[in-house]
Amino acid sequence: MDINNLVMLRKTSLVDYPGKVAAALFFCGCNLRCPWCQNRELVLASNAPDQAFISPDQALRHIEKRRAVLGGVVLSGGEPTLYHELPALITRVKAMGLPVKLDTNGMAPHVLETLFSQRETTPDYIALDLKLAPARYTLLGVKNPTARLKESAALIHTANVDHEFRSLALPHGFFTDNDIEALAPLVDHAPWFFRLFQPGNCLDPAWDTFPAAQKEDGARLAKKAAQLGKRANG
Ligand code: SF4
Repeated sequence: MDINNLVMLRKTSLVDYPGKVAAALFFCGCNLRCPWCQNRELVLASNAPDQAFISPDQALRHIEKRRAVLGGVVLSGGEPTLYHELPALITRVKAMGLPVKLDTNGMAPHVLETLFSQRETTPDYIALDLKLAPARYTLLGVKNPTARLKESAALIHTANVDHEFRSLALPHGFFTDNDIEALAPLVDHAPWFFRLFQPGNCLDPAWDTFPAAQKEDGARLAKKAAQLGKRANG
């Protein structure tokens, strides 16, 4: 079974699409292996009851029925750009009159290029994760990460699509001001949000023994980003 063809459906979410009541599809599988990832069930498609996973087609049928009460659809993960039929899926959602938000780690710029090539496959909102300085992505188990991330950011800058950037403040100074400086050229006028790491159910169980990142950790990173002229929120 191709796990990239499976999703978990959150029928109603107030937090995944800014300002909208949305349904969210969380795709299984990911091309990164962030040790602090708390989406273990999604990334590995394991340790969750089989019935938790459905096909994107089944998810869309639920959404069609609830169309009247929804303001948008979020495609998240895991990593949604690994799903081969993503352009067709976005086309179907937009044909229902619902805007689409895509959450991505930016490791598949060729997919973004395909999506941006036609209006009906272009997401209405994109959230790009920025995890570490681009050169440090090799720690996350992917080849040529730096070029991929830079290409994705450049595509998003020029796509004329609302977007945001997201980073996670990590414990033990794992994500530092140096990472912010290295990432800053990838961030344009759009907001850059900083969330806080919490241990629990991490992909690498060693990370469950680490303390939660503190509010000051996020604020420090946001301050550094703001000093570099970014619209930081931490
Ligand atoms: S944190 Fe995101 S990009 Fe990293 S492994 Fe988990 S789902 Fe993939």
